[in-house]
Amino acid sequence: MRSKQILFVLTFLLLLTSLSHAWVQITEQGAKAHWSQKRATLNLRVGCPPNRPLTAWGPCWDDAAEDAAAQWNAAGAQFTFRIQSPSQPAAVSCTSADVDGINTVVWADTHCGMAFGDSVAVTQYWFRRSTGAFLDGDVLFNTNKDWTTYSGPRRSGAIDFHRVAIHEFGHVLGLNHPDDHGQRVTAIMNSSGGGVDRLQADDIAGIRAIYGSTSPPSKGALGNPGHGTFKSGIGVISGWVCRAQRVEVLIGTQRVGVVYGTDRPDTLSVCGDTNNGFVTLVNWNRLGDGVHTARLVVDGAAVGPPAEFKVTTFGQEFYRGAEGVYRLPNFPSAGLDALIVWDERVQNFAIGAVE
Ligand SMILES: [Zn+2]
Repeated sequence: MRSKQILFVLTFLLLLTSLSHAWVQITEQGAKAHWSQKRATLNLRVGCPPNRPLTAWGPCWDDAAEDAAAQWNAAGAQFTFRIQSPSQPAAVSCTSADVDGINTVVWADTHCGMAFGDSVAVTQYWFRRSTGAFLDGDVLFNTNKDWTTYSGPRRSGAIDFHRVAIHEFGHVLGLNHPDDHGQRVTAIMNSSGGGVDRLQADDIAGIRAIYGSTSPPSKGALGNPGHGTFKSGIGVISGWVCRAQRVEVLIGTQRVGVVYGTDRPDTLSVCGDTNNGFVTLVNWNRLGDGVHTARLVVDGAAVGPPAEFKVTTFGQEFYRGAEGVYRLPNFPSAGLDALIVWDERVQNFAIGAVE
């Protein structure tokens, strides 16, 4: 029994070592693609719709593309997209011979002579294999698709140009698809755009990791759940953040709102004040058996490393009718026994006596 338990703990710890960040940088033979000057100029050549001006981010496709670039510029990274003004005629760099160093954004009915297939847009990029330094990144939007602009959940029919532009510009600056590389996370950089209309915490973490952050990340930490811990029954998610507009915790891909601003005298020396606590109640059983990931998100950006924890349940969300008192010999120390009592309301045991 004892050895079985050790084996189980080891298995969990091995699972923990596979933990990694989710965003993925475009990488080839070890060279990580990036703009060495931390900036790229976009030559926007997508023009305006011929009939009706765009109602969102319009009136022109060029305006929507410019706003998409601005979303990345506002992500708090030391990277800037500039817009070439006026734009200039330039060809797509389909082969290494026609790399012109101009990052052109155009409509196209093929991708360098090849069919787009299901792709709504393609980014054609070139970088030095030795250093990863980008030379060129052209974005081609598929003219065979029906395009418009709108925010919010994805609709059937015409495609929102703005979110596709955000995704493609993410490639231009060096990000790849997390979901194509075994990562499961909410991100506009997922291969299908992730079903979201704007940058997500993981996308922001990606650009900040490649180019550095413009401001030091908010100081804060997720205290519970701790990394490598076991959870059951009803408990709390808690921690502290010095300063924030919005504090959230991601459990897997699910966003959990917390109460922020509770008193944490222990954070005085780090934050300069004490109203830094956050907390929320959670029924761990609702997550189901298995290993889960928790991440602290402050103002849309991940702070600190993710925590992996293991939930074990009695197979249901709220177990009723059980009761019992159990003796834990020589706990917490030799010569002392703790008596633990099942408390249905918290779906857990509490120490009833020490003798
Ligand atoms: Zn893509």
